[in-house]
Amino acid sequence: MIDLHTHSSASDGSYSPGDLVRYALEQGISVLALTDHDTIAGNEEAKKAAEGTGLTFVPGVELNINWKPGECHLLGLGLQTISPDFMEILDRLNNERKARNTEIVKRMQEAGIDVDLERVEEIAGGGTVGRPHFAEFLVKAKVVKTRQAAFDRFLAKDRPFYFSRKSISLEEGISAITGAGGIPVLAHPLSLYVSWSRLEGIIADFRDKGLAGIEAWHPAARVAECERLEKLAKSLGMCVTAGSDFHGMARPDRKIGKTAGGRTISDTYFTDQLFPLLEAQKQKTLTENQEP
Ligand code: AMP
Ligand code: ZN
Ligand code: FE
Ligand code: FE
Repeated sequence: MIDLHTHSSASDGSYSPGDLVRYALEQGISVLALTDHDTIAGNEEAKKAAEGTGLTFVPGVELNINWKPGECHLLGLGLQTISPDFMEILDRLNNERKARNTEIVKRMQEAGIDVDLERVEEIAGGGTVGRPHFAEFLVKAKVVKTRQAAFDRFLAKDRPFYFSRKSISLEEGISAITGAGGIPVLAHPLSLYVSWSRLEGIIADFRDKGLAGIEAWHPAARVAECERLEKLAKSLGMCVTAGSDFHGMARPDRKIGKTAGGRTISDTYFTDQLFPLLEAQKQKTLTENQEP
């Protein structure tokens, strides 16, 4: 069992990166990618925790990409060397995120909720502050009973405390990830929110821009949809990955190593799909560094 999409407390997951690795080991995971939202801050700690264990750790990230009408999330898997360009992109994403968070606080205050950004930052515990932390705040403040209700009533798209934020272009995301020696993979493609009839053309276009793979298996999709996405990827000559989008206790419906329909994620999504691309990328980096 493996998992190629997880979050730690460096973004909106509840486990620290080290605890995430230890939990993954306990649960029988053999390959784990950490893909925090717009940050790589957890990768070092997770890598250390995995050393000397049987677990293969894949340093990663999940970048927010400008997209309408839905959401476009780009996974970067197997990051090797972080360039200043890569850090510049993360800085930009986080500045836009901070501006957006300030707007959310303002809107909540206008709605009569006693809140300030520091209290939400406290909930985030030093990690990237995201909407799930606002959801937790609303639960603690007894405005809603559950985090999901906070999203449904206030924080989801088109709800009163929702603000879209400027992110980066797909080209920028792909180039940052490949520049770092990683593999760019489109996370949960159905969140693009486009019809099946348009999806193939859109993903083909993404592939032509350098996208290497798609995460066909994600718990937010149905099994039949995942199968269809896997076929689509294969017909486009792309790599297929699978993940749980695990967030620890912050999102108890997501189980590590499990994806759509509660299915266990097979090792083959690493060994047959991602691993060959990672090896090719490593070779490429080596040759490039040898050039005079
Ligand atoms: P942010 O990056 O701050 O906009 O937060 C995005 C995160 O919020 C996603 O990765 C999910 O974990 C969570 N999220 C977004 N929409 C929903 C929703 N409708 N219900 C529950 N969680 C959501
Ligand atoms: Zn998340
Ligand atoms: Fe995502
Ligand atoms: Fe995610």
